[in-house]
Amino acid sequence: MRICVVSYHASPMARVGAGKSGGMSIVIRSLYGYLARFAEIDIFTQGSRGIIEPGPRMRLIHIAEHDPQRFAAAIAGHHHRRQYDLMHTHYWSSGVVGLYARRGLRIPWLHTLHTVEVLKTMRRDKTRIEIEEEIMRACDLVVSPTRQEAAAISARYPEVRVITIPHGVDTRRFTPTRNGHHNILFVGRIEPIKGIHFLIDALKILKLDVGLTLVGGSSKGAANLEGIRTYAAGLPVEFAGQVEHDRLAGYYSRAAMLAVPSHYESFGLVGLEAMASARPVVGFSHTGLQETVGRDAGILVKMGAGDLARAIQTLLADHGLRYRLGRRGWQKARAFDWSRIAHIYQRTYERIIEEEE
Ligand code: UDP
Repeated sequence: MRICVVSYHASPMARVGAGKSGGMSIVIRSLYGYLARFAEIDIFTQGSRGIIEPGPRMRLIHIAEHDPQRFAAAIAGHHHRRQYDLMHTHYWSSGVVGLYARRGLRIPWLHTLHTVEVLKTMRRDKTRIEIEEEIMRACDLVVSPTRQEAAAISARYPEVRVITIPHGVDTRRFTPTRNGHHNILFVGRIEPIKGIHFLIDALKILKLDVGLTLVGGSSKGAANLEGIRTYAAGLPVEFAGQVEHDRLAGYYSRAAMLAVPSHYESFGLVGLEAMASARPVVGFSHTGLQETVGRDAGILVKMGAGDLARAIQTLLADHGLRYRLGRRGWQKARAFDWSRIAHIYQRTYERIIEEEE
């Protein structure tokens, strides 16, 4: 099996946790790292670094084109030599490439949105909503990481074929340790959609001497980060900045809990990383965390600083509860190990290829 993966938006091998590189890069690296055991993987991204091989049977092909149509033409050139069995595009910008590429490739096309613009709770871009609609209608299969999101897509677009495959976690990298302290941890790109102001407000309500560690670099311009610094002035908030993914495990193990105060979170990889580290998660119940954290690996509440503060306080006051929720999270996280999730993808890819034949 030979797979063509499109990650037009950002190189999956770039540093994660700042700028435009976030969870999607981790998903692409992890998933195709495993799938390369069963298939040959060519990942297309923008850039001028030629072809590099991050691992056996896996090539990262840089194409120095900023025009999606010409980018798609370059993919078609590779297809001519490599004869891909399937194309999987990630994020709407890669989906635009897919719209052009499918004419030349004529192979099954899967698309993962990563964020669904129409389902966002703040600042939606009308043009992007229309483009995502066109991509969903044109591709053969949409892959969504949660049942909730898949159902929302089906409700809006009944003609779109959508399946659910959750994202995974590396349970060898993120493992339980005993040394949890009393700080609250946030991990993610610093941008408005991540709702960090809810967390600062919660700290203000609690008036506790609890430290908050914010891990992550600025994503949508430095203004948001500076705004948060000002808003958090006088509070015990540590700005740790962007941290390399393979150095993150220590942050989870030192934390009492992970807070995910996002306005919108399609899945929330950080929730799974905390679970694998046996740390409870606080966050909002309308997000993708509902299907990972659920009711027994943390406390999910209605969006708002007051409820978030109560959830944090409940956890801080009860070590036994933190331990139980953390332990349950760790048990649940094993089902999401990337090795398992990659198998689901493998079977899905095989099925779609067979259907086409
Ligand atoms: N991350 C990281 N270093 C940082 C901040 C974040 O490696 O400084 C990683 C984090 O561990 C997670 C990903 O970036 O794997 C963020 O994924 P998530 O789904 O939580 O959010 P997204 O970026 O997709 O909005």
